[in-house]
Amino acid sequence: AQSLPEMLSASVRAFPSHVALEFFGAPTTYRQLGEQVERAAEGLRRIGVTKGDRVALVLPNCPQHVVAFYAVLRLGAIVVEHNPLYTARELRHQFEDHGARFAIVWDKVVDTVAGFPSDLKLERIVSVDLTAAMPRAQRLLLRLPIPAARASRAKLTAAPRAKDLISWKSLLDHRRLSKRVSGPALRDTALLQYTSGTTGTPKGAILTHANLMANAMQGRAWVPGLVAGSETFYGVLPLFHAYGMTLCLTFAMSIGAKLVLFPTFSVDLVTKAARKSAPTFLPAVPPIYDQLARAASRGTVDLSSVRFAISGAMSLPVATVERWEDATGGLLVEGYGMTESSPVALGNPIGKTRRPGTVGVPFPSTEIRVVDPEDPLTDLPLGEAGELLIRGPQVFQGYWGRPIETAEALLPDGWLRTGDIAEVSDDGFVTIVDRLKEIIITGGFNVSPSEVESAIAAHPDVVAAAVVGLPRPDGGEEVAAAVVLRDGAELEPAALRDFCRTRLTPYKVPRRFFHVEDLPRSLIGKVLRRSVREQLLASSE
Ligand code: ATP
Ligand code: MG
Repeated sequence: AQSLPEMLSASVRAFPSHVALEFFGAPTTYRQLGEQVERAAEGLRRIGVTKGDRVALVLPNCPQHVVAFYAVLRLGAIVVEHNPLYTARELRHQFEDHGARFAIVWDKVVDTVAGFPSDLKLERIVSVDLTAAMPRAQRLLLRLPIPAARASRAKLTAAPRAKDLISWKSLLDHRRLSKRVSGPALRDTALLQYTSGTTGTPKGAILTHANLMANAMQGRAWVPGLVAGSETFYGVLPLFHAYGMTLCLTFAMSIGAKLVLFPTFSVDLVTKAARKSAPTFLPAVPPIYDQLARAASRGTVDLSSVRFAISGAMSLPVATVERWEDATGGLLVEGYGMTESSPVALGNPIGKTRRPGTVGVPFPSTEIRVVDPEDPLTDLPLGEAGELLIRGPQVFQGYWGRPIETAEALLPDGWLRTGDIAEVSDDGFVTIVDRLKEIIITGGFNVSPSEVESAIAAHPDVVAAAVVGLPRPDGGEEVAAAVVLRDGAELEPAALRDFCRTRLTPYKVPRRFFHVEDLPRSLIGKVLRRSVREQLLASSE
């Protein structure tokens, strides 16, 4: 295949009557998916979408999301993914950044998008109504907090201009793509994928068909014993994020899998779905594995069918691996990546040689280096911690409209600076230490917040901890910890400090402990240390 739509067509030809998508029990076969993609592509062509246009998707996980993704690509246009739960302000910033003329939007957020200032380039909005076919899905989705929808009712007065608004249903009125539209080429841009915004404003990573197809193929090489046409993926991760996009939209579709779509994760939804379609492949994040392992060990859900459980996006605690593997009898394996690398770049071997606590080894045709962060052209001796660089066919082309950040991230010979500190063992296994930006420098020593967080989290009364540097009057930083305690637990800071002293060198022991109810997390579940720091600063004033 020369492009993602061709890759999908190959699955349509190979498995026409297999179920491609399942949403609250309603199936879409590969043949139907292929037809809907052609019809939607024709609908989009008629409203003016052509090669190279950017088309914004503001959708939760639903079958229309998958169809829209491939229909846009079929025309050689560029998909721009958005989190539909972003606030109106965040969404507007992204629309200002990419300047798309077309948007395909969940109807709950349409008023917001239609109310964006008219100096944006946005011309046509396709509104996706999930009510008609899926009353149950809609009820569930409505329980999600939708800040953009709230803001649009409260603040934005501009009414949507009716002529610019069309329905998803009318987009599908056509029987097939009528003109021979030449599809995209390998080197064409397929996607602007925004980074998570953990360390700053989200940046739009430019990813080509070649990038995304390379990552799907690398994924196939990583997972031994996959059976094309008979795997069942559970799509609990958001499709608008790099991780869910590659695992569910490209990888799963490339092997003719059935993708069960969840608009949001809950143990209850997974439990119900598992009675109908037993999952074999589950890409998720550690908090999800913890919750599901608890349910599985209570016996309320049977997840013994999951042969491949893949964790990424944040570090996977060894305790979570043990809990999951005890509860389900399957393997839980960690990978590592970033939006800028499509996203997966390293993975643990899936089998007995996996090494919990590490992110494994580079993907096929992926090279890595560990360099001095002050001087990224200088390699460090094996075993020494330094900044991880990645090079491979999945590495992005740059950030949309940001030449300076692009030049910082991409070295001239194609090496991507990850901004992460890593260590490589003698036999090539990589451990991610922390993000470079989040390393705390106190009294001339470097402290890794992750290491301190693990030490605190080992206390039986602690549920979670986040460690950050707070400014000291002398201009330096001191180590501070935000700690979530188990319900009803009472733990004095002094006791926690003593506990840490038994596990950490003195300069790593937090000077200050703050009890908090909860840690701020991104939608996918990453702890936002930047927000923790702001909260602690505000509360220590
Ligand atoms: P931004 O770049 O906008 O600040 P972000 O880096 O969180 O946000 P993503 O591209 O979604 O956006 O995340 C990539 C980052 O996630 C990596 O650079 C790394 O810090 C972290 N990460 C991914 N996988 C792992 C892992 N297995 N272990 C530890 N960290 C991981
Ligand atoms: Mg990043």
